[in-house]
Amino acid sequence: MRDIDHFIAGEAYQSSGRTGDVFDPNRGEVQARVKLGAASDLQKAVDAAKAAQPEWAATNPQRRARVFFKFRELVEKNMQELAELLSSEHGKVVADAKGDVQRGLEVIEYCCGIPQSLKGEYTNGAGPGIDVYSMRQPLGIGAGITPFNFPAMIPMWMFGPAIACGNAFIVKPSERDPSVPVRLAELMQEAGLPDGILNVVHGDKEMVDAILDHADIAAVSFVGSSDIAHYIYTRGGQNGKRVQAFGGAKNHGIVMPDADLDQVVNDLAGAAFGSAGERCMALPVVVPVGEDTADKLREKLLPAIDALRVGVSTDSEAHYGPVVSQAHKERIEQYIQMGVDEGAELVVDGRGFTLQGHEKGFFVGPTLFDHVKTSMKSYQDEIFGPVLQIVRAKDFEEAVKLPSQHDYGNGVAIFTRNGHAAREFTHRVNVGMVGVNVPIPVPVSYHSFGGWKRSGFGDIGQYGQEGVRFWTKNKVVTQRWPDGGGDGSNAFVIPTMG
Ligand code: NAD
Repeated sequence: MRDIDHFIAGEAYQSSGRTGDVFDPNRGEVQARVKLGAASDLQKAVDAAKAAQPEWAATNPQRRARVFFKFRELVEKNMQELAELLSSEHGKVVADAKGDVQRGLEVIEYCCGIPQSLKGEYTNGAGPGIDVYSMRQPLGIGAGITPFNFPAMIPMWMFGPAIACGNAFIVKPSERDPSVPVRLAELMQEAGLPDGILNVVHGDKEMVDAILDHADIAAVSFVGSSDIAHYIYTRGGQNGKRVQAFGGAKNHGIVMPDADLDQVVNDLAGAAFGSAGERCMALPVVVPVGEDTADKLREKLLPAIDALRVGVSTDSEAHYGPVVSQAHKERIEQYIQMGVDEGAELVVDGRGFTLQGHEKGFFVGPTLFDHVKTSMKSYQDEIFGPVLQIVRAKDFEEAVKLPSQHDYGNGVAIFTRNGHAAREFTHRVNVGMVGVNVPIPVPVSYHSFGGWKRSGFGDIGQYGQEGVRFWTKNKVVTQRWPDGGGDGSNAFVIPTMG
């Protein structure tokens, strides 16, 4: 049985004590054991980070950037191995696992330009002989607590900008698929990162609480489910930390009567069922506007769903693989039953799906509901599985209201050929990330990622210039160099620029 150890000060570290099972979701069998660390293990990582960080912060940003250039090269070289490892623990198909790595790598590419992003502001002559400038300085030690569903991309969203800005970093990955973050840390070290700047500690709530309570950790970035995100935000804030905490989602795709329905169905199939629906930017709710649009859409969706191939994650023909765990499979199936009990029409039932030769695998077939109502709990909650719900809207106004009034506000998309409707929608909808004829509008790495309402607690987004802001503090210097003659100003009153 493979053991997955912490990675501290540039080497594997085996803690004693509890371990957790890491499954192969294709077979439903335990494939490895991950250490579940305690506060004393975290302390080792903090000690290593503390020892290494001042010198790293003093390294000029161009040299820091060179580590990211090299890291990018190494990740590309190891892409196949990383994708297979990721897929074997998560269950997403290998091609999709490559996308997981690639979208993280794009943030690393942004970090290659950190000398430019870190430049401060300067005002020449803000007063008589006075110049003002600002600089962004690292916080010290940052930590990232990440979910199972993007074990490559999300750690890179966090450790990339944090480290590029001169911080040391501690990642606490999901205990369900913890191997890839360790491989990434090893590759960062191979790329020239000094020992102790990037550490990986494994664990569950005990380790998370130790991070939230540690006085030497200045900032915490979290991505996961909303209740935990809220908890992290509250407890981290109470301990005086800077916290950004991103939560769950229930993204809607609005389909206007003028939309290209063939394109919509193609986009929806991937956005609703890709990665077995285990994406925070998936589209699990589709809102056709008008009964006619709804009927046509449903008619076109059925053969598209029928054509979906569910397979093991190494099957290159499969559209999606198993979900992450038996417990999650059961939870999804319970939500399907809830939908039925609440009176929605179950059009395609994915329960009881088995794959020959992989009967114990965590597979759920594609599921479609129609006539879903906003009063239903199965609509209000995030299901996070291959379940698509049709909520019929009578007109555009109702369609804008649905995602705007939902508790979650991560992503939303509108499908239309009408520029005016798209513009109205993008301006009015109360959701953080919007796609126009783009089903999964995850912003590129030089913009920034962040949902609203219960999808995001805190003010600053992930990556891009927002990431640089999150992982630094701004210092503003007001300076003058008098020539010694004195300017006769009254030092007893506050100077004004009047
Ligand atoms: P999760 O909340 O169960 O776990 C996330 C992290 O929190 C893990 O590292 C886990 O160890 C830790 N954790 C779990 N329970 C805890 C507890 N009681 N106390 C302290 N820490 C705890 O989430 P998950 O199931 O791994 O990931 C799926 C969720 O993440 C979905 O809700 C999805 O929408 C969300 N997600 C959101 C985004 C986003 O950007 N908004 C991105 C990806 C995933």
